[in-house]
Amino acid sequence: MSNLDRSPPLSRSGGLADVAPRPVQEIFAGKKVALGESTEVWRLLPNLGRRLVGAWCFVDHYGPDDIASGPGMQVPPHPHIGLQTVSWLLTGEVHHRDSLGSDHLIRPGELGLMTAGAAITHAEQSPVPHPALLHGVQLWVALPDEVRYTAPSWEHHAQLPIVRERRATATVILGRFAGEESPGRTYSPLVGVDVALDAAADILLPLEAEFEYAVLLVSGSAVVDGTPLTPGAMMYLGCARRDLALSSAAGARVLLLGGAPFEEQIVMWWNFLARSNDEIVAARQEWMAGSAFGEVAGYGGFRLAAPALPPGKLRPGGAVR
Ligand code: MN
Repeated sequence: MSNLDRSPPLSRSGGLADVAPRPVQEIFAGKKVALGESTEVWRLLPNLGRRLVGAWCFVDHYGPDDIASGPGMQVPPHPHIGLQTVSWLLTGEVHHRDSLGSDHLIRPGELGLMTAGAAITHAEQSPVPHPALLHGVQLWVALPDEVRYTAPSWEHHAQLPIVRERRATATVILGRFAGEESPGRTYSPLVGVDVALDAAADILLPLEAEFEYAVLLVSGSAVVDGTPLTPGAMMYLGCARRDLALSSAAGARVLLLGGAPFEEQIVMWWNFLARSNDEIVAARQEWMAGSAFGEVAGYGGFRLAAPALPPGKLRPGGAVR
């Protein structure tokens, strides 16, 4: 998925200053963003209050949308650097193609994990024909400095570890949870878990005290750490928790994201994650020149043009908004 904001902000984040060392409850509603002409998403990260949860640096939630009479998701070829993208579906299908020649249909319960590293281009579309409903999330993970120029790669994992509790089923999307480990490759300590709560579920999720966490209520209704969460909202939980109480009267779907606080300062703009303004400018120029990022074979349409850069330069350590 691409950040299709026509004037995306240049934002600096990372470091420990914003990490809550103790348990907190900060609730965010998503911000509605148009993703191309046919899809609207709710952006939970980055937001004005918080930009990172561990290495998780971007969270878009879309649907459930009825796309029976439309094209559904149509995200033309666009570039990424310095991050991993995680495609996770609750309902529907997404067709992923990239400049490595990867060509996969992603279905609910399957992990689509793309490591952009030095440079990659990909396109995401609803297949033809496609199921009537589309519901999912797109997540980005910041790569640590020592691996951010790694060769790009694509992983598709149809089988993920599942932890069953009474009235709850947890799928380990990325990282390690409750003794199970996702086959998806990670580059820093983090975890992503999809928790399906049946009606009358009341469970404790085991957490790592060193991680910071957030939960996103993807569907249904749930009480998180004693507080009811509105569908589509995210709650930042801070660090120093050994477990998290989750309950639901009528059933719910919850996404748990966590990780070791990301200590490096990062700069994000559009689909690029770097360490300086100059790197962002150089990546944009390379994409517009059409060189290092490669092509998505078999894609018939135009690729995305990069938006204009915001005026001014980042000051080291300074605010940019
Ligand atoms: Mn993308």
